[in-house]
Amino acid sequence: MRVMERKTRGRVLNGYLDFIENEWGASTRKVATAAIGIDSMDWSDGQYYQDEIVDNILRWIRRNKGDDAVIKAGRSILHNLGILSWMVRFSDVVTLAKKFPKNFSEIYAFGSCEVQVPRPRHVKLILKDVVFYEERCMVWRGICEEALTITKTKGKVLHPQCQLKGDGVCEFVLEF
Ligand SMILES: [Zn+2]
Repeated sequence: MRVMERKTRGRVLNGYLDFIENEWGASTRKVATAAIGIDSMDWSDGQYYQDEIVDNILRWIRRNKGDDAVIKAGRSILHNLGILSWMVRFSDVVTLAKKFPKNFSEIYAFGSCEVQVPRPRHVKLILKDVVFYEERCMVWRGICEEALTITKTKGKVLHPQCQLKGDGVCEFVLEF
């Protein structure tokens, strides 16, 4: 896989740390940031930072709190991405998913995100050069699940193609 410099807005870093604090308390946030070596750092929401910091936070969550906690972190981060205006919140899942690519490009300075609706009740999210390790796939699963939940859509999330398994892209499918 191509090596590139990955940068992410501070908003995402702060979102994951806030998730840790909301789930397990301020003392756990301190433990986590100390373990990762970022306890003396501050990030402003609009600035870009090394995405490796996100890697380390997600790995900490998985190691200490399990797989479901990483998926839940993905669910929570959807609420930090700025696409959930009140209009979108009360919208349908297709409208919401179609906001992902623009929002993605505002947040992540690497990879690409595309949304397709090949047929009704079926949304494809295609991520290229976004996922470099398992925790990222888990987070995106959580984001997709939360898109269904907040639009009160009954359905499921599939992950038929994965770049970690040799496919050209990571593809998530929302079926509802
Ligand atoms: Zn994947």
